[in-house]
Amino acid sequence: MGNSSNASAGLAARIHRALRDAGFAAYLVGGCVRDRLLGLEPKDFDVATSATPDEVARLFPGSHLVGAHFGVVMVRDGDAEVEVATFRSDCAYRDGRRPERVEFENDPRQDVLRRDFTVNALMLDPSSGEVLDFVGGRADLAAGLIRAVGVAELRFEEDHLRMLRGVRLAASLGFSVEARTLEAMRRKSGSVSLVAAERVRDELTRILTEGGARRGFELLDETELLNAVLPEVAALKGVAQPAEFHPEGDVWTHTLLMLEALKTPSVELAWGVLLHDVGKPPTFRVAERIRFDGHVEVGVEIAGRILHRLRFPNAVREQVLALVANHLRFKDVPHMKQSTLLRFLRTDRFAEHLELHRLDCLSSNRRLGGYENLKRMFDELPREILKPPRLLNGDDLIRAGYAPGKRFSAILEVVEDAQLERRVETKEDALGLVCALFGAPDAHTGL
Ligand code: ATP
Ligand code: MG
Repeated sequence: MGNSSNASAGLAARIHRALRDAGFAAYLVGGCVRDRLLGLEPKDFDVATSATPDEVARLFPGSHLVGAHFGVVMVRDGDAEVEVATFRSDCAYRDGRRPERVEFENDPRQDVLRRDFTVNALMLDPSSGEVLDFVGGRADLAAGLIRAVGVAELRFEEDHLRMLRGVRLAASLGFSVEARTLEAMRRKSGSVSLVAAERVRDELTRILTEGGARRGFELLDETELLNAVLPEVAALKGVAQPAEFHPEGDVWTHTLLMLEALKTPSVELAWGVLLHDVGKPPTFRVAERIRFDGHVEVGVEIAGRILHRLRFPNAVREQVLALVANHLRFKDVPHMKQSTLLRFLRTDRFAEHLELHRLDCLSSNRRLGGYENLKRMFDELPREILKPPRLLNGDDLIRAGYAPGKRFSAILEVVEDAQLERRVETKEDALGLVCALFGAPDAHTGL
């Protein structure tokens, strides 16, 4: 990222100069200005200009019009790319997503008024360092405030996604949401369900993975956006747990603690953490103590529905569900047979399962001894013990006189178990075991 971001910064500066030399107004705008002023590295660069899309395209051969009618041109040079957008104002939002019509403007002020938050509405002249601030963005940057440009409620009615963008920005920057903006989010929270599932998914994933996940989910809760996008997660609130295992409190508190401990998680780990206990609310019951019998199976089902609804690709979905499905198995590790334990350690992407378990312990009883032992074992275990070369295969069984059949896979699994437990070490041992457990070959072939 670093390199292509540097390259994009260079390209943005060249574009700026070329536009100015051609007599147009041009500024860096949006997230890249915000991040620069905060001393962060921008993710991408946007240039706003008085030049029309055609004029931009003429100045930069090799660029292409992405949304000519929204006035956006993508300029590329090698790895670097910069979005160059004509100053514009947006008119007549009808569908809560995009303007019906845009009008090109010569005045940068008009362009700023259509932007979502004041901290995203600053313009910077990269050659002079001059900042254009029409909406008080610098003061909000200094105060750590996310504030809608204009009347928050109207801005969220125009484009419902802005509410999630605001939460994400506040979370990742460690900012607060200004009171009226927060109140507008609360009032408009229901309409976020009209946003395309993929866009909700991407914002939620960014809230989970780009820093401040706990803060992000607290804000989603406070604004009631959580009820609208993830009611199953909102249901974690107030679900009590046995104090003996969970001195920290209810399921929501526990989940927030885990989110807080996430550093730079994969998408799958982050969602796995968020959803690992999602089966607890519907399985809660009070017996001799609070119990959640079957919460893992129920959780896998609920998580599956959520990930499907949010249109996650299958590969992501499968790993998240595997994380949910396995999270309780760790408590059985001390009682596992060696073969069961080794098979568990062979789970695809086991390191991620282990990390979820670490966060789970850290955010409850804080006893990490079991985790540390297992981690050491996983790191140090030689491959030939974890996955020793097979002693027998189906052909060996046929050659030994066993009739091929469905039983073969069960027989071979028993052999592998014995091998993992070091009860057999050679092919002869293995055949001896098969004979002892499943009978001599003639019993099967009927010879
Ligand atoms: P980052 O790139 O770090 O995710 P960003 O603020 O740069 O954050 P982009 O999606 O790159 O976000 O958008 C660039 C700029 O375009 C924003 O800073 C904002 O000014 C404007 N913008 C983006 N999305 C919207 C929106 N939905 N409504 C209004 N303005 C928007
Ligand atoms: Mg950006």
